[in-house]
Amino acid sequence: VSEREQILEELRAADKLLLTTHENPDGDALGSLLAMHEILRLMGKDSVMFMAANQFPLPHEYRYLPFEEVVHDPPGDVDQRTVVFLDCGNLDRMPVDFLRKAGTHILNIDHHHDNTRFGTVNLVDPEASCTAEILYSLAQELGVEITVPIAEALYVALVTDTGKFMFENTTPAAHRMAAELLETGVEAQRVHRHLYEGLPFSRLRLLARALANVTRYEDAGITLTHLSQEDFAAAEATEADSEGIVDHMRSVEDTAVAALVRELLEPEKAGQRKVSLRATDGRVDVSRIARGLGGGGHRQAAGFTTDLPMPELVERLRAEVGEQLVPAG
Ligand code: AMP
Ligand code: MN
Ligand code: MN
Repeated sequence: VSEREQILEELRAADKLLLTTHENPDGDALGSLLAMHEILRLMGKDSVMFMAANQFPLPHEYRYLPFEEVVHDPPGDVDQRTVVFLDCGNLDRMPVDFLRKAGTHILNIDHHHDNTRFGTVNLVDPEASCTAEILYSLAQELGVEITVPIAEALYVALVTDTGKFMFENTTPAAHRMAAELLETGVEAQRVHRHLYEGLPFSRLRLLARALANVTRYEDAGITLTHLSQEDFAAAEATEADSEGIVDHMRSVEDTAVAALVRELLEPEKAGQRKVSLRATDGRVDVSRIARGLGGGGHRQAAGFTTDLPMPELVERLRAEVGEQLVPAG
């Protein structure tokens, strides 16, 4: 039996489910969560969405999404629930103890090629543009009608994970899915306005500081910027305000790899930096670099958290990107 058949069978058979996703959720994480919740509800299931309380408030662009029903604590009957992980490549991205207990029955639905297959049943499709694309096909196979709320949640995931249909994961299937969702009744312009307009001014102030801090390492084709705690303070910005900054690095000529290095702001994470890497084409696999430093991701978009000091970190990135650009031998 294929993994896909197993997942379909599990979803048909389960009565009570608990859905969750990775920490610092992005559009695919949130859209997939909402879509799956709604799909299961239409199937008559008892579905609960879980996200830890410290993940709220959500980044500004996602606050309009209907998350009124999400819970922040395990429900009393959690041991009887099938746990569904969406868009989460490994369990380190969900630092919540009750979900990591041995014996938890986990359905792992994801599109990261480096997914560690931590589930009891795993459906990992690296060809899918986003996790929501997998859910879309599962819903059709389960005979669930794609309602407007489901279509809107799926569309948010699709448009954000493909970088507005610009990244390499923008396949014909992704465009077909978009077209079908629009036919269902998604108003693309309204969604885009929520996601990309009306953002806090602090974003622009933080971007200005990031642009002022750019360094180019021409030997390795790296365009990198750094945001310190002082930068965040001066811009009166939150960590979520750094979303999208790395894409500005990526748009510069002769860039093989774009990087954003930002200091974490939580007091207990002092000294740690979050690194976002983006490759502009197929020459460099940034997920390999991220995995070597305790993170992961996709070939052209990956991330990790490190306590390496800035000079060592930059040296490591230059060496690893350089090595991939000019293969030894
Ligand atoms: P980001 O740079 O945070 O936007 O993340 C880009 C991609 O890398 C996403 O697809 C994430 O799934 C992945 N990623 C980011 N941080 C981590 C991490 N600490 N561990 C594993 N994957 C990560
Ligand atoms: Mn994600
Ligand atoms: Mn995703």
